Amino acid sequence: MADIDKRIIKLPRLRLIDKYNRCLNYLRISITDRCNLRCIYCVPDDLHQLLPHKEILRYEEILRLVRIGVRLGISKVRVTGGEPLIRKGVYDFLGKLTKINGLADVSLTTNGILLRDNIKKIKSAGIKRINVSMDTLNRQKYKDITGHDMFDQVWEGIELAQSQGFDPIKINVVALNGINDDELTDIAGLSFSYPFHIRFIEYMPIGIPHTNNIGKQLLAPEIKKRINALGQLIPVKNGVNDGPAKRYKFKGAQGEIGFIHAISKHFCNECNRLRLTASGKLRACLLSDHQEDLKGPLRKGCLDSELADVFLRAVSHKPYDHNVVCDQPVMVAGRMSAIGG
Ligand code: SAM
Repeated sequence: MADIDKRIIKLPRLRLIDKYNRCLNYLRISITDRCNLRCIYCVPDDLHQLLPHKEILRYEEILRLVRIGVRLGISKVRVTGGEPLIRKGVYDFLGKLTKINGLADVSLTTNGILLRDNIKKIKSAGIKRINVSMDTLNRQKYKDITGHDMFDQVWEGIELAQSQGFDPIKINVVALNGINDDELTDIAGLSFSYPFHIRFIEYMPIGIPHTNNIGKQLLAPEIKKRINALGQLIPVKNGVNDGPAKRYKFKGAQGEIGFIHAISKHFCNECNRLRLTASGKLRACLLSDHQEDLKGPLRKGCLDSELADVFLRAVSHKPYDHNVVCDQPVMVAGRMSAIGG
């Protein structure tokens, strides 16, 4: 460990700034491509596509890459997947991650299945805020979307997280026409009774040609129009560590409403993200297939400075914009679960 740190200290303080002057300070890490749910819009049923274990980055490898990223200007990290909480050793890993000097923010995105039984371990690991994916408030519909009858367990986990002081708790909702569009006001209404941040996410055509299965995309302007029945949405100013979500609040609500409008209104001009995939590839854009391999050089024994060059190369390839629009879905190779949503 001490050797690694010494090498990192010798790295020049380079900034991850792309050719369009965007400063990339946010790394999203998919620690596994495995998941314990089969959401219709995300995980293909074909288990044969799973990465062999030896192809998945080891925790020590991820931690080394994060330390290098921090030297280059990464200050915010999100752990995602697949389902991050099903990977063995995850709580120990999270504890080491949150202790890395220079990281101002470490958060976790989970489907919440394992929250109820592990919330204290997550808290002890130093995680203060979480995103939980929950696309419906209806138990049967939850089963239809995810393939598992787990709504009650997830909801219990969310309430327990609230009682343990996680703040904010963001509820990720992928809005799907014909599936959960009838529940948008009920879901948004949660922000009155709970301090949760409800984030409506536009469906993105990633990985497999499954658009036919999930109905038409439901875009942020339409969602906004529908939930306006609950009152006027008042804009909330974004904080320094905020992502691209546009934040709002209903008058008198405890929580907030956010929209991730990746399709209807590209936020590429303000994108500050890099993604480390479960297989050790660095992607500068979720919706572009360009990626740089970090695992190969890492396992060949490359120096930190050489791995830093890979970060810089990935950044130099970050496209100005993605070309995915609503009515002409463009397929992106690679699965959301391996890239990390
Ligand atoms: N298993 C964790 C979970 O369920 O939150 C983390 C991984 S999941 C890939 C991360 C987020 O991506 C979830 O909120 C999920 O709803 C979202 N997601 C997955 N596939 C998507 C798609 N095709 N379009 C938009 N969001 C998607």
